[in-house]
Amino acid sequence: MENIVLVEGAGFCFGVKRAIEIAFDVAKKHKEGIFTLGPIIHNPQVVEKLKELGVCPIESVTEEKNIKTLIIRAHGIPKDKLEELKKKGYEIIDATCPFVKKAQSLAEKLCLEGYQVVIIGDSEHPEVKGIFSYAGEKAVVVTSDKIPNLNKKIGIIQQTTQPLSKVKEILNGIINSLNEFEEIRIFNTLCNFTAKRLESTEKVARNVDLMIVIGGKNSANTTQLANLCKKIGVKTYHIEDVKEIDKSWFKDVKKIGITAGASTPQWIIDEIIDKIKCL
Ligand code: SF4
Repeated sequence: MENIVLVEGAGFCFGVKRAIEIAFDVAKKHKEGIFTLGPIIHNPQVVEKLKELGVCPIESVTEEKNIKTLIIRAHGIPKDKLEELKKKGYEIIDATCPFVKKAQSLAEKLCLEGYQVVIIGDSEHPEVKGIFSYAGEKAVVVTSDKIPNLNKKIGIIQQTTQPLSKVKEILNGIINSLNEFEEIRIFNTLCNFTAKRLESTEKVARNVDLMIVIGGKNSANTTQLANLCKKIGVKTYHIEDVKEIDKSWFKDVKKIGITAGASTPQWIIDEIIDKIKCL
């Protein structure tokens, strides 16, 4: 099988690449007691490699006695949790993505300036929980076009990985009730890496017979890619590694598109492409 199109920008985004480089760098410099708060990325293979170097993920500091250094992953963590960890005396290596940091700072600034912060995103996502913690007591997370009652002065930001179409839909809903507001401030905190990957994935998915989406089954951005392809109507398989490839998927298939989420290392993508080429 030779007709394979790899989506431009598939795989690690800037923030994930940076967080992983930081984690490997710390592993080289420190001897023991290094942990990541939650897996550094949603990729079991990378997490395993780091474990071999002595960097293990923990969900909570109560799980481990020998903590010296804690690495914060790209999604960031809530403000109070970060402060609590610093107080406990751990060395904190903050690998929060600068784009997520920007959303956190804007949330804090808007709150201090008296705006009710409206975050468009998924309230259960760790990134949103982090941003929310900077946004003050009146902050709300809006997940759908069902918009709750809002204050007269609002400041709107977005979870970095939200699809533009959904953000537009929610913003339109708010603007349609403009007469209910005194002031609306809108900041773009969307991440271009995600938007571009979604856009290039859509272009490829519309022109192939089958899409392979590579990335952790628990990765929100990979699932978003898979859902986008399915919505377009192309046969789509979401896989984590080469072992899941099934020869029967490719029967009568002429052109295959390959995309990957932000947590998928290049070597996993290469391995899968090589395997498909040999079918
Ligand atoms: S998707 Fe964007 S915001 Fe999220 S970690 Fe990657 S670069 Fe940062």
